[in-house]
This record gives sequence, structure tokens and C-alpha cells, in this order.
Amino acid sequence: MKANMARRYRLYPTREQADRLTGWSDTCRAVWNTALAQRIWAYHSARRVTLRAVDQGPELTQARREYDWLADLPAQCAQQVLRRLDAAYDNFWNRDHPAGFPQFKKKRDWGSLCFPGQAIEVRQVSRRSAQVRLPKIGWVRFRVSRPIDGTVRNATVSRDGLGWHISFGVHQPELATPPVNTGPPIGIDVGIACSVFCSADDAARQRPATLSVGEHRRLRRLERRRARQLTYAKKYAGGKYSNRLRRTNAAIAAFKARQARRRLDWNHKLTTDLAQSHGLIGIEDLSVSSMIRSAKGTVTQPGSKVRQKAGLNRSIADQGWYEIRRQLGYKTKRYGGQLIVVPAPGSSQTCCRCGARDPESRRGCGRLFACTQCGHTEHADKNASINIRDRAIHTAGRAGTGTGGGAGSQSTRSPKGRGGRRASRMREPSSPGTAA
Ligand SMILES: [Zn+2]
Repeated sequence: MKANMARRYRLYPTREQADRLTGWSDTCRAVWNTALAQRIWAYHSARRVTLRAVDQGPELTQARREYDWLADLPAQCAQQVLRRLDAAYDNFWNRDHPAGFPQFKKKRDWGSLCFPGQAIEVRQVSRRSAQVRLPKIGWVRFRVSRPIDGTVRNATVSRDGLGWHISFGVHQPELATPPVNTGPPIGIDVGIACSVFCSADDAARQRPATLSVGEHRRLRRLERRRARQLTYAKKYAGGKYSNRLRRTNAAIAAFKARQARRRLDWNHKLTTDLAQSHGLIGIEDLSVSSMIRSAKGTVTQPGSKVRQKAGLNRSIADQGWYEIRRQLGYKTKRYGGQLIVVPAPGSSQTCCRCGARDPESRRGCGRLFACTQCGHTEHADKNASINIRDRAIHTAGRAGTGTGGGAGSQSTRSPKGRGGRRASRMREPSSPGTAA
């Protein structure tokens, strides 16, 4: 009975509880970094061994007897750190996963603590308030912003610029076998100018600004203040952070967390809507080259700061794109649909009506597609999304699953795959289906 749904709530620990949780997350970071260093060392030593949690667990138990600060961390949390490190390695080895090699954690990374289901207990206190019992800390209050609806299998306590959160891994039996989604197929094109364009829509779904004008102004002001306070700290305080600088940092972190939350909220609403109403969803494999092209300009009028812009474009597109793909991956499974990741090349240069591929059809940098063969004109992103939909239908047909049938997602290689693998992904699909 594995968790198949996550529920996240604001957690309100008391001052003492918060201090202890902070201390534990520091300890978890130490366990992670030590275990990772040990694994790297063991692999590069003459023995060439790959350590796993089962190998490092007994050593951790031994270390807990020797160090009080380590013994203070609940044993389950410490073991979970090793298991998460296993998962990080598994993702790195998995060719379909974009994860890179596991990284050492820094103090500025917000840590999180994992508790298995046996270690915790949840009880409702009132309509909007509940408590969770964490090992050694006791009952901690959290706000029930939505019902838990299922059996709690595990809990993760985390912190960001806005405060503490608890995320429950919940098992919902009805999600295990969803009915097949018979909604119409759809292709989606994720871009920079238009956040998301769906083949069934007539206009782009634009992600709203994550900060209001006033918030933006205040954030700029805080960033200037931080720069000033940092200069002061370096010049006159030997690099020691003042309390005011800490407060500035906390205020900036709150803004960033709010921004991240709003971005995520929009993504979730989009992907839930798509996954509920469509049986087959096509999304293109990330096309880094088309994003970079936007900054290059032409030979006679070269763009400025091309590399920086490219890096920026990539990071923006990459984050939004991968998060949308990730959410669609599990939500299509949840709603009985299917996600198909199709190869990107040519989707924006191919005519969705006659299938002719010609870069000249996208003259200039506007959002207009004008086919050089049949004269068909269309919003460029809509044209691309229709191509993506048709390629997805084609892929699904070839796989013999049919449109709308079967749960699960098929994918080509990951977007951020390590190094040389990228070339092998950039293949043209064999004759994409014609427009419907
Ligand atoms: Zn055409």
C-alpha cells in the first residue's frame, strides 16, 4: 500500500519545536554529506565498491552511539536520509530521469526531514486545525486547508522562506485503478513568449506575473539593501552578517518562496485541467536550440549577450517545461490518460495542414506561421501544438495502445540528459501524421 498522493499543509511548530527541527535538518545535512563523501571515496578507492543504505546503516547506528548530536536525530529520519541518497543515485543511473550526480548540500539549502508512517500519528483538533505527533517533539499543529482523504503513509517536514510545511504521502485506494480517460487528444507547446499553447485552444494560456508591481518594487529595494549591507559586512565587520542583513535575507526569501508557490499553483491548475479532460497528451521533448535561436539575431544584426540570454532562456524554459511534464506524467496516470513525449525538431517549422517543413514558413521573429507550400496561416505556437498532438497520436498508434487507452506515460530520453546523449534524441520522427 504505497502512497499515491501528496498533501501539503502549513505547519506551526512552537519556538522550541522549530529550533529542534532546524537542528535536525542540519544533522540530516551532515549525514547526507558524510554518506555521499563515503560513497564517492569507496567508489574511487582501489576496491571500486558501490555503497548503499544497507551498507552504511550499521555504521550510522554505530556513529549514533558515539555522538550525542547525531543521537538526538530520530533514528528513522537518519535512515531515511540514506534511503533518499539511494534514490538520488537511482535517478542518476536512470537514463530516462534528468537528475545529475547527487550534490553535497549547503547550509543555505532548506533542509527537510522524512518520517515513515509508523513514526507519526495525525489527529484532527477542529474543523480547520489538526495535529501531527512527531518523534521526540510531540504534537505539532498544522492547518487543514483541505481534507487528507486517505491513509497517511509518510510525512516530510520542510521549510522555505514563508515558514514550515508538512507534506503527507497519502494512499488513496480509488486512485490505484482509474477508469480509462476517453477525452480527446491534445498537443501542448511550452515556450517563452507564450507560456503554454494547447492545440484545442485559440489563445495561449499565459502564466501571470508572479509578483505584482508593488511587490516587484519592494523586492528590488530589498535586493539593493542586501547589497549595501553585504558591502558593509565585508568592509567593516569581517564578513559577519548583521541581524539586519539576516532580516533582509529572510524578507527576500519570503518573496522568492511566494513567487515559487504562485508559479507552482498555476502549473498545477493547468496540468490538472489537461489531465482530467484529455485521454492523450502530447508534449515535445525540450528543444534547447530553438530557445537559443531567439537571442542570436541575424548575420547583419547580431543579437547582444547571446550566451547569457541563451542560458537564461534555457533555465526558464527548462524549469517550466520539466515541471509541467513531471506533473502531467503522474496526473495522466491518476486520471486514466496517457502522456507521450515526442521529439521536438521541426514542430514549429512544419505546416500542420500539408506537412511541409520549411524554415521560411516562420519568417521574422513574429508569432505567425505562414506555410510556403499551401499558404496556410496560423498562430505559430498553435501550429506547433497541432504538430505535437499529431506526432503523439502517431506514436501512440505505433505503440498499439490507441488514443486514450491505457494509463501511464511513454517518453523518449530525458531533457537534461548528461552530455553526449543529447545528439541521439534529436532524431526526426518517422513521418508524423497529417493534420486532422
Ligand atoms: Zn502547408
